[in-house]
Amino acid sequence: MKKPEILIAGAGPGGAIAAITLAKQGIPVILVDKETFPRDKICGDALSGKVVEVLRKVDVDILGRLQLSPIQVGSWGVDFYAPNRKLLHVPFKTNYVKTDKAPGYLTTRLDFDNFLVEEVRKYPEIDFRESCEMKTFERIQGDWKVGFKSGAEVQVKMIIAADGAHSAFARKVGQIQMEKSHYCGGVRAYYTGVTGMDSDNFIELHFIDDVLPGYFWIFPLPNGRANVGLGMRSDKISQKKIDLKKLMEKIVTQDPVLSKRFTNATCEGDIKGYGLPLGSKKRKISGDGFVLVGDAASLIDPFTGEGIGNAMMSGWMAGNKAIEALSANNFSSDFLKKYDDAVYARLWSELRLSKIMQEMVNYPWLFNLVVNKANRNEELRTTISCMFEDLDMRKKLRSPRFYFNLMFADKAK
Ligand SMILES: Cc1cc2nc3c(=O)[nH]c(=O)nc-3n(C[C@H](O)[C@H](O)[C@H](O)COP(=O)(O)OP(=O)(O)OC[C@H]3O[C@@H](n4cnc5c(N)ncnc54)[C@H](O)[C@@H]3O)c2cc1C
Repeated sequence: MKKPEILIAGAGPGGAIAAITLAKQGIPVILVDKETFPRDKICGDALSGKVVEVLRKVDVDILGRLQLSPIQVGSWGVDFYAPNRKLLHVPFKTNYVKTDKAPGYLTTRLDFDNFLVEEVRKYPEIDFRESCEMKTFERIQGDWKVGFKSGAEVQVKMIIAADGAHSAFARKVGQIQMEKSHYCGGVRAYYTGVTGMDSDNFIELHFIDDVLPGYFWIFPLPNGRANVGLGMRSDKISQKKIDLKKLMEKIVTQDPVLSKRFTNATCEGDIKGYGLPLGSKKRKISGDGFVLVGDAASLIDPFTGEGIGNAMMSGWMAGNKAIEALSANNFSSDFLKKYDDAVYARLWSELRLSKIMQEMVNYPWLFNLVVNKANRNEELRTTISCMFEDLDMRKKLRSPRFYFNLMFADKAK
């Protein structure tokens, strides 16, 4: 086999999909991860419809194996709890019938990332190295000389940096700095015995006063477990001097409504925290001989905190761009800039709308109003449901007419 010209740093969902995309075209790649799989990743563990979309593009058989796997449960919608505690029950699809082809899934990252890595291991084209931390990266005559913690070195034409929220490569080479107003802090823990979870595994987002402008979540998992956590924008955490772990403990033990659901619940292990680099601002995510993927490229949805789908989408696009670069033998920043264009052409309109929705959470009365009205108005409920299926429907949020209808069209239907 030819010498690999591409190195992918990080075998999370973004890096794994980039590697598989290249390997499917018979292109040899080196994929390194500093951990050994299965490994944990602090996350809410919810896979959105975009994960399904990317797997369908990359290899529909992988999607089929996920759909039949016992590591996941299908999720059919989302329960929004407004600051006034009113529930808005929103299916991802209107009038759905339950099958094994759910619009979203819930699976621990320990299992899901290992599932993808098992797919990676099937390809002889992928030289997959675990416990292999990328430490140094140096430009030498148009190539990258990459050094690992073990002391080993490789020389390649291009790096796909998919090394997550704390990517040293994105910071040092991509010049992406952490900005608190475009960054979120999140904590989560696993529980058993939480009561009142939805039988169709609707995920629960609780926009309660204590966590605004963030939210508290309960996500059902296989075998009666739940992923419970909360997230908030980092500038707000600093302004309000909030300790997220203590706040989560307080909600679970003292919140007048939610604590009742945890009376007989057991927390497995500790509450753990990690950062979420948000895609609420466009960045330059490529340069001479490299592209950034997923969290390294700050692509997390600023309203929902969803980052797995965007990591996989950008990983697929990075793999395709690397294929073009190899065939044109052009790894220049000018050539790779088209990767930025492709990623933002696909993701920017939804990231921008999510930024607007993130702002709406700063106005609890508006949130309460939307939920109250939607509960009385079937058309509005259907509109919100359709927003999960159809991006054009989300554009309604930018239209003054949507708010006019919201204010004045609350006839019970
Ligand atoms: C609390 C919390 C809740 C979240 N909830 C959700 C959710 O419910 N749904 C959702 O879609 N998203 C959620 N996210 C976001 C999601 O976790 C990330 O967007 C997603 O993991 C990004 O994937 P990635 O492949 O870019 O990076 P990662 O999954 O972080 O993978 C990066 C990989 O790179 C490796 N690595 C790092 N440095 C090096 C190095 N120097 N050398 C070699 N390897 C290296 C790491 O070991 C890791 O395996 C949440 C995040 C947090 C913090």
